[in-house]
Amino acid sequence: MSAETLDHAIRRAADALRSARRVAVLTGAGVSAESGVPTFRASDGLWEGHRIEDVASPDGFRRDPKLVWHFYNGRRANVASVQPNPGHSALAALESRFASNFTLVTQNVDGLHQAAGNRNVLEVHGSLRRTRCTECGAVRDRGLEALAEMPTCALCAGLLRPDIVWFGEMLPARIWEEAVAAVEACDVFLVVGTSAVVQPAAGLIHLARHRADWIGEGEGATVVEVNLTPTVASHAAHIGLYGPSGQTLPRVVDLLRND
Ligand SMILES: [Zn+2]
Repeated sequence: MSAETLDHAIRRAADALRSARRVAVLTGAGVSAESGVPTFRASDGLWEGHRIEDVASPDGFRRDPKLVWHFYNGRRANVASVQPNPGHSALAALESRFASNFTLVTQNVDGLHQAAGNRNVLEVHGSLRRTRCTECGAVRDRGLEALAEMPTCALCAGLLRPDIVWFGEMLPARIWEEAVAAVEACDVFLVVGTSAVVQPAAGLIHLARHRADWIGEGEGATVVEVNLTPTVASHAAHIGLYGPSGQTLPRVVDLLRND
């Protein structure tokens, strides 16, 4: 992609959305970071001196469930103290425009998209708001209420864990299939606040761009990358909006509103 001004890129993104029938969005930690949710992987990968893999993995939980809950109770308290930002609101406005033809796939676990008003949200990494029983498997939405140091299941008294996809665990199959289907069917794919280099973003971008190769109809989707700065994989995007998504996305939505 050749260099272009942000103004021009914003106009092109609005034009692509104006003629789109179906829109899919993938969001990552960058969107939440603008609300004040810490991104451990983006910094030094440490929490209170612990490697993030040690508090976000099945092994770490087996070794020290209390430490893992200390980490997640802290994250729950953090999310309870923050608000969706204008980038979240812009994505909620896009869902209002496209209704059932809009799917938001998120790697974020904080529920801020739903708090901003998005309804069709696929949480591929789970949710901080839910617990899952390690014994009976019961999943409960606990919102952001304060939990015990080591919360237990109301049904079987088993130890609860966060309903989060940890390092070394598979993505939830059904939700992932829905995400793939939405990306395959979209005309515009927005990739927001997540590196286009790593999976699953890289794979979904490929899917959006090249679906025509194998279903043999129409053209691939227009891929719009929305990130603070370009990445080495930004050439895979047709349009790049570089800057805080809380600043760029509202401008795209404003252009659409003025139709
Ligand atoms: Zn249970």
